[in-house]
Amino acid sequence: MRIAVVGLGIAGLSICARLALAGHDVSGFEQFEPMNTEGSSHGDTRIMRMSPGEGEIYARLAKRALPLWRIWEGLAGKPLIEWTGALMAGPQDSPFVAACKAMSTTPVAALRGDAIHVITRGYIAMPYEWDVFRQEDAGVIAADATRSFLTRQVQRWGAKLFHGAKIEAPIESTTLKINGAERAFDAVIVAAGAWAPTLLPEFAGRLAVKRRILAWFKTEAPRMLPVICCDNDVGVYGMSAPRGLYKLGLHAVGGSTEPNDVREPDDEDAAMLSQQAALFLPKHDPRPVRMSRCLYTVTPDENFLIAQSSANERVLLFSACSGHGFKYAPVFGELAEEWLTGKHSPELEAFMGKRTIASNRLGDEKT
Ligand SMILES: Cc1cc2nc3c(=O)[nH]c(=O)nc-3n(C[C@H](O)[C@H](O)[C@H](O)COP(=O)(O)OP(=O)(O)OC[C@H]3O[C@@H](n4cnc5c(N)ncnc54)[C@H](O)[C@@H]3O)c2cc1C
Repeated sequence: MRIAVVGLGIAGLSICARLALAGHDVSGFEQFEPMNTEGSSHGDTRIMRMSPGEGEIYARLAKRALPLWRIWEGLAGKPLIEWTGALMAGPQDSPFVAACKAMSTTPVAALRGDAIHVITRGYIAMPYEWDVFRQEDAGVIAADATRSFLTRQVQRWGAKLFHGAKIEAPIESTTLKINGAERAFDAVIVAAGAWAPTLLPEFAGRLAVKRRILAWFKTEAPRMLPVICCDNDVGVYGMSAPRGLYKLGLHAVGGSTEPNDVREPDDEDAAMLSQQAALFLPKHDPRPVRMSRCLYTVTPDENFLIAQSSANERVLLFSACSGHGFKYAPVFGELAEEWLTGKHSPELEAFMGKRTIASNRLGDEKT
């Protein structure tokens, strides 16, 4: 079967990988160059958490993802995840911290905020009255290394990747317009991140595109520091990054943006992130050594949105961001394959219900 995958961020790459392995004729289209820094998947690191507080469905996705990450690591010939552990922290009534604790599959150490200073030898601090759960089954994903590995691997598995190939909006059928030419496919999967609302306008009301800024701080810590995820007013989170740095981001700060015109990090961003560094990273210079921008594509409840187009049931929107999708990346290809075959797992049904391609199950066709 001829499958087009629109967008080669981490979701599109994973989908290309799985469908090429399953024997489909896969073409992946990306408007920018390989390893571009425009969408949501670029950068050195992402947080891995096996006990995500976002809900039970995500704990199931994490469980499915882990063995697949191990396969990817085997093929890449190097670790893609560094298991540093994580500190999930917030005020005593924090629903997020309670959810993380409830989801945990491994024993969690319940601590007060003031213990963190001691445990991390003064490199990380938390308000003394906060609840903190230390989770061992968390760490840091080498994000760019993963993208780079997958870009090579999917082509070895037979997918054809086209960069600098912008699919024209809107997508209304399985015939795509690419740089002025038309190409027909049997199914189209739109993993276009922040550009999905333009390509499939029927979903625009449920997808908000937000600007997010990240900052890196020099650390002298002798060992990799744990991940932090804090339930404070800005939703600060952080992780160890390569070259002796610690990265901070603000989950809850950053306005709406147009994906083709994102404001570069400025002094106001630096001041906000420095303030968080001063609070949470004592023994660090609170001036960022570098900053970067990234895009969240957020649904109202921060769940992923996987849905068939009403114009054509063979066109699937696959939007897996809301700021927490990278860790589940290896499962995205499996979910796309389930959609094609009509054999939905409970995980896929949680996102798109029992809706399958009614007229002719694609998976029943010869590929
Ligand atoms: C600041 C930040 C921090 C994050 N932290 C974490 C974390 O710690 N842990 C975690 O698990 N997740 C995290 N995430 C979320 C994770 O990175 C995203 O869920 C994931 O990268 C989404 O990937 P994607 O492939 O859906 O989108 P993207 O990476 O944006 O890919 C979409 C691609 O489609 C291409 N495209 C769009 N339109 C067209 C077109 N017309 N023609 C051709 N190509 C097109 C784009 O150029 C882009 O490359 C974070 C995200 C951000 C932004």
